[in-house]
Parts: sequence; structure tokens; C-alpha cells
Amino acid sequence: MNQETIGIHYGYEKDNQKTMAVPIYQSTAYDFGSADFAASSFNLEQGTDNVYTRVGNPTTAVLERRFAEYEGGSAALAVASGMSAIFYSIINVADAGDNIISTSQLYGGTVTLFRHTLKRLGIEVRFFDKLNPESIDDLVDENTKAIFFESIANPSIDVPDFEKIAEIANRHKIITIVDNTVATPVLCKPFDFGIDVSIHSASKYATGQGLAIGGLIVERKNLVEKIKDNPRYPHFNTPEVSYHGLIFANPPVNGILFTFRVRMILLRDTGAVLSPFNSWLFIQGLETLSLRMAKHSSNALAIAKYLESHPKVKTVNYAFLESSKNYKRANKYLKAGSGLVSFEVDSFDEAKKVLDSVKIFSIVANIGDSKSTINHSASTTHQQLSADERSACGVKDGLIRLSVGIENEEDLINDLKKALA
Ligand code: PLP
Repeated sequence: MNQETIGIHYGYEKDNQKTMAVPIYQSTAYDFGSADFAASSFNLEQGTDNVYTRVGNPTTAVLERRFAEYEGGSAALAVASGMSAIFYSIINVADAGDNIISTSQLYGGTVTLFRHTLKRLGIEVRFFDKLNPESIDDLVDENTKAIFFESIANPSIDVPDFEKIAEIANRHKIITIVDNTVATPVLCKPFDFGIDVSIHSASKYATGQGLAIGGLIVERKNLVEKIKDNPRYPHFNTPEVSYHGLIFANPPVNGILFTFRVRMILLRDTGAVLSPFNSWLFIQGLETLSLRMAKHSSNALAIAKYLESHPKVKTVNYAFLESSKNYKRANKYLKAGSGLVSFEVDSFDEAKKVLDSVKIFSIVANIGDSKSTINHSASTTHQQLSADERSACGVKDGLIRLSVGIENEEDLINDLKKALA
């Protein structure tokens, strides 16, 4: 199946009612029918959909199957938010005393998680500049558990060298995790470039209408090759006491291990679960994702080109501009540029004037909506960062970030033209 078809049909078997729409199984629990079946469900013999909604739900399972197939992975796990997807994917492999390595160009919430909350848990994050992935080699030691980056960084719109990062990680047998939120599986297939795990904030492009908060973790096929008997990953290779000695990598249940462990250990114990209703909203959104991403990208490119020629604009960040330092990598790793464009005007005051003058763009911190939005990163999404941390993310005082929607391209350009006049 090609991705447009996957987004509409994959992973849904109609039940006796034959509903065309995927049903919402709005239920906490499931009738086991017999004591033996109940016991075998808790012993992981009956799959994970019909045990308890904290670890699985039939509506959410459709979303997970569909999303995994869309991205070309072996399995996906839906969770309550993009932040919980990132947090779970890190603590699935790292404990106190361990470290991970990350690009410094990141979404602001990820920066605070990495610099403050993980630190309190005893997990160190070592940063590298995406323009210099070779420096990763010097940061690796025997306690390094993951290498993390964003496929299109929010809001610097940088595109790292996936294959270089994967090559270094593979040499050290370390898992790579990419935040593929901005590109979505439509524009970027990270597993084709050797990346191991992909996470998403589904709160963005998945519904396209800013309807719900959610997250996904997707693992590549055959991830067991990297994890089995790898001394970096004892959680997968030693008996899990809370499952009577189960060894996740030996052999993996249904061939999946990374998302399976998040589900059976971290979701079980900490419970950042996605509601079935929100899963259903994401399923509706996936039906039109490929159409929307094409329009977001063509509108954004037209706007980036317009801004590049504007005398009041100092710089424009959009990876598919020929003048962009990311252009070569963008063409290699992405099908199109997605909807985020950032640009710099002279000062915070100038930026404020633009934000207060636009009529179609709304001042909103979220991205990925079909409606265009505008944001001043330094005073909102990246406000809680120090000046140095902001600068490492590429967030200057005059930086404005647009999340370009799917309205008419000329209307959007005219709106910005008037605001910049
Ligand atoms: N990753 C990126 C790139 C984001 O832009 C965001 C939110 O803006 C997140 C992760 C966090 O996602 P959520 O708001 O769903 O927790």
C-alpha cells in the first residue's frame, strides 16, 4: 500500500456492525469471560488491546498500526503527548548515571526536559551542534544510551545529517531517536536513513485542526539486532522481575521490543495514556495528512521566497530555499519542507508590530494547524530558556516563527505584506 491508502484504510478490520468509521471503544476495561483468560491476559499471552486501557485500547490500536505502517516501522505506541513520547523513549533506555547526546537545536519544551528535569533524575544530556555531527564521537562513553535530534528543528528549521548521525551511532551500537513531528511520516521516513526510533507530537499535523494533545513512539523493523546482547541495554537483556523474568530481547514479543517495553513497564507504572476519543480524532486526521502536508509545504515555500525578497527581513529559515544552508540535506532527507518558516526582523519591537498587525495568522504557540499561526519564539515557546540556551536553539530576539496553514497562498502573502509595511 502507498501512504495515501495507508492513511485511510490500514489497520482497521470492520467488526459485526461494519461501520465505515473506526468505532470509538470508550471503555476502561474489558470482560475477560473466564478466570483462565484473565490470567493469560495478564501474562501477556493475549496481546495488549483488551486488558486495560492504560496499556492498550482497540481504537488506539488502529491509530498505532496505521501510524507505524505510515512511517515504515514495525510498531507504534500512542501516548498522552509529544513530551511524554520523548520522555518515555529516553527513560526506556537511560537510568540515573547514564547520558544521552542531543542536538542543541530543539523545541523549547524538549530543552527544559533535557536540561533540567532529566538532570534531576540523574540523566545527563550532552549537546552537539547539528552542523558538526562528527563531535558526537567525543561525547560518547560507555554510559551513552541514545542520540536524539529533530528531523526539522523547531524553530531554527535546521535539517541534520541523518546518515552521518546513524553511522556514528551504529559504530558505537547506540540507539538513535528522532523527533519527526514537523516533517511527519509524509515528508520524512527516518528509518530509511538508519534511524532506530521516531517520536511525534501528534498534537500538530496529525489532526491538522489543533484538536487534541497526543504523542507517538515508533520503532524500526528489526531493532532487536542492535539491542540483543548489547551491554548498553541491560533492561532488554536481563530478566524483568516485574514480569516473572521476561527478557524483552529474547526473543521480542511479536518482534517488537522498544515500544513494547514502554507500554508494559512505563505506561503500566506511570500511565500517560492517550484517550480513545483522542485516538479517534488522530485517525480522522491521518486520512488527509498527505494532502495537507503537500499544501502546507507549497504555501510555506512561496512565503519563504516572498520574505527572502523583503527589505525588512534580515534572514529567512526554510530548508527548501536554494539559499538555505540546509538545502542539500533537505533534498536528501525530506520530500518537502513542511509548514514551518522562521524569519528575523530587526528587533523584538519590530517582531511585536508584525504579530499585532496580521489578520489571517493568529498569534498561537502551537504548530501544524490548517489555520496559519504566528509566534515570537523568544517570549513564548523558548521564554524559559537562558539567553545562551536560546542562542543555541537559534532563537534571536527578532525571530518570528510562522506555522503556515493551508489557506490560499496569495491571501497569506498579502497578510504578511501589510503587516511588514
Ligand atoms: N516536539 C516538537 C518538535 C514540538 O514542536 C512539540 C510541541 O510544540 C513537542 C515535541 C511537544 O509536543 P506536545 O505538545 O504534544 O507535548
